Amino acid sequence: MKDGTKCLHSGYSPKNSEPRVVPIVQSTTYVYDTVEEIAEVFDDPTKSLIYSRFGNPTVMAVENKIAELECGVGAMCTTSGQAAVLLSLLNICNAGDSFISTTEIYGGSVNLFSHTLKRLGIECIFVDRNLGEEEIERKIRPNTKAIFGETLANPALTVLDIEKFANIAHKHFIPLIVDNTFATPILCKPFEYGADIVVHSTSKYMDGHAVQIGGVIVDGGNFNWDNGKFPDLTEPDETYHGISYTEKYGNRAYITKARMQLMRDFGVYPAAHSAFLLNLGLETLSVRMKQYCENAMTVAQYLSSSDKVESIKYPGLKTDESYLLAQKYLKGCSGVISFVIKGGKSAALRFMNSLHLASNEVHVADIRTCVLHPASETHRQLSEEQLLAAGISGGMVRLSVGLENVSDILEDLEIALSQV
Ligand SMILES: *Cc1c(COP(=O)(O)O)cnc(C)c1O
Repeated sequence: MKDGTKCLHSGYSPKNSEPRVVPIVQSTTYVYDTVEEIAEVFDDPTKSLIYSRFGNPTVMAVENKIAELECGVGAMCTTSGQAAVLLSLLNICNAGDSFISTTEIYGGSVNLFSHTLKRLGIECIFVDRNLGEEEIERKIRPNTKAIFGETLANPALTVLDIEKFANIAHKHFIPLIVDNTFATPILCKPFEYGADIVVHSTSKYMDGHAVQIGGVIVDGGNFNWDNGKFPDLTEPDETYHGISYTEKYGNRAYITKARMQLMRDFGVYPAAHSAFLLNLGLETLSVRMKQYCENAMTVAQYLSSSDKVESIKYPGLKTDESYLLAQKYLKGCSGVISFVIKGGKSAALRFMNSLHLASNEVHVADIRTCVLHPASETHRQLSEEQLLAAGISGGMVRLSVGLENVSDILEDLEIALSQV
């Protein structure tokens, strides 16, 4: 099936007289005739359902749909994108381990990597994504267990050279984890370029309607964990009767361990109702992504020709530093644009407060056009110097272009710019 068809049909195929739409199975638990049958499921929880802390039919339908869209072997949903990023690393990193991440990643991930994971004894080594392969390789130590980056970085809007980072990772027998939130599998399938694990905040384009927070981890199924570096996947797990995940689950070892061990213990599994809503978003993902990209391209061209605009960042523009990488890896550059208004912070605030159609909100990837002011909102805690280092100026506006008719979006921008 092609993507548009998978969006509608993957993950759920009703049989005779069953509901057309994925049912909301709102139940914490599942019944069995005998104790022996429940005991059997405890021996191998992948066989059937036990308890909705780590498995539920509505959520699993969505997991299977996302796994098919990414062309992976399995997926596990989480209650947020943050939880997906966290568990994707905890599944392979223990206290005393390290991992590499590019510097241009989501602010929540920066906090998690540089502070909270550090407190758990896991060190993040940040690297500039533009460094050469050898320079990056020199940062890899014997205890380094993964490389992490974002396909289309939030908020930097730079594109990751996935093949370069996959090559480096595989040379050192460690996986590449890619946060594919902004691109979605419609614009990029990181597994095709050598990524091993994909994570998403489903709160963004996958949901699209700004109705529920969620995340997902997808296993590409191609990484060989049995290389001596990942004993937690290859050696017996005493908390599951001494099974070895690689021996028992083969190329689904990583995602099975994430569910059986981490989801069991941390319990960040979404509710059936959230998964039902996420599924509605996914059904139209393919048509929506096409339109977000088309609208944003028109808006980016308009803004780059405006004399009120100092600079603009959108990898779909030929002048953008990530243009060539975007051409290679992306089928479109999503709806998110950042630009700097001439006149600094006061001009940016005046512009944003003069918008009528676009709303001020801390979100991106909504179906409706929205804006946020990084220096006053998402990056408010940073000092003047830190803002400068992060490339965030007072005049910077982050615009998430929605699905309204683009001429209405342009008119709204034009009127607000005229107030500056
Ligand atoms: C939003 C976001 C996250 C965090 O997701 P939540 O669902 O808000 O927890 C992680 N990575 C990226 C790239 C994001 O945009």
